[in-house]
Amino acid sequence: MANYLITGGAGFIGSNFLNACVKKHKEDNYICLDALTYAANLNSLQTIKNCDNFKFIHGNICDKRLVEEIFSTQKIDYVINFAAESHVDNSIKNPSVFIESNVVGTQVLLDASKKFGIKRFHQVSTDEVYGSGEVAAKEDAVLNPSSPYAASKASADLLVLSYKKTFDLPITISRSCNNYGKYQHCEKFIPHMIMLADENKPLTLYGDGSNKRNYLHVDDNVRAIDLIVRKGATGEVYNVGSSNRYSNIDVAKSILKLMGKNQDSISFIEDRAGHDYVYTMDDTKIKTQLGFCPEIDFNDGLTQTVNWYLSNKNQWLVK
Ligand code: NAD
Repeated sequence: MANYLITGGAGFIGSNFLNACVKKHKEDNYICLDALTYAANLNSLQTIKNCDNFKFIHGNICDKRLVEEIFSTQKIDYVINFAAESHVDNSIKNPSVFIESNVVGTQVLLDASKKFGIKRFHQVSTDEVYGSGEVAAKEDAVLNPSSPYAASKASADLLVLSYKKTFDLPITISRSCNNYGKYQHCEKFIPHMIMLADENKPLTLYGDGSNKRNYLHVDDNVRAIDLIVRKGATGEVYNVGSSNRYSNIDVAKSILKLMGKNQDSISFIEDRAGHDYVYTMDDTKIKTQLGFCPEIDFNDGLTQTVNWYLSNKNQWLVK
């Protein structure tokens, strides 16, 4: 039996993680700490909210007093830090909240982990820390973030690694490519495109729509994170990639096709400042060392995701 502190568990990836793990690992307790920012949605925790091994605490990871109280009263063994401001566009408009939640918040959690002692601190990170490029980045590549969001995540990664080197804190980091699936906020690319198509509005893309991303179904990332926390080696970083690389225009067209809408309803707006063209990661390490492989085919996953949003649009496709 172990006690897990899951920060940001009312957000997209955290809630998918909790939905899978609370039911799968009934012997473990999951304590979710979430500030309930605009990006959170408690509907995503509906099916587990009454489980005996689940508890929700409303609060901020930057609140040192609250975080220390949780560590001492809940006897935390594992921390998985999903909590973050996660929307690149917002980080261009207002970087300070990204530094506060993503960097300072991570440091507060690291300090509490050091003070109370833990079995593992896992940081949920992103391929964006490597910056744009076609050369496949291994886990020890130089970090070269472009946006304030990516810079805040890279800063947090460096802090996490420094707590291993300086204090021997048992840490791991996962860096994944773009996740998609249910419970994602409608500001993000795929739900946003579904929302526009459903409202019969033009699907607006940055630049010429050719920027590419690798897509990983959130269920695959959830499996990877659970595997790394349980079987990954202390102090290690693991890239979690996917071979599903599509341009924004490809994804927008696939969504229109799946929804039976006119393929012409795509328009273009001025490109985002500092818009990374593509991220490329080498994910050999998690495959060879932990035997992990993504399982969900992109076309199946996208079909399932479109259908899920259309069935739940009153809760998820609202601004
Ligand atoms: P999200 O925006 O959907 O959810 C973030 C959650 O964190 C929200 O519930 C929010 O309320 C909470 N939160 C934010 N600041 C907080 C704070 N100071 N204290 C407590 N809670 C706070 O994000 P997501 O897409 O689920 O991403 C989760 C993590 O995974 C993030 O760290 C993100 O950088 C990383 N990541 C995301 C993707 C992706 O494609 N979505 C890819 C790679 C990595």
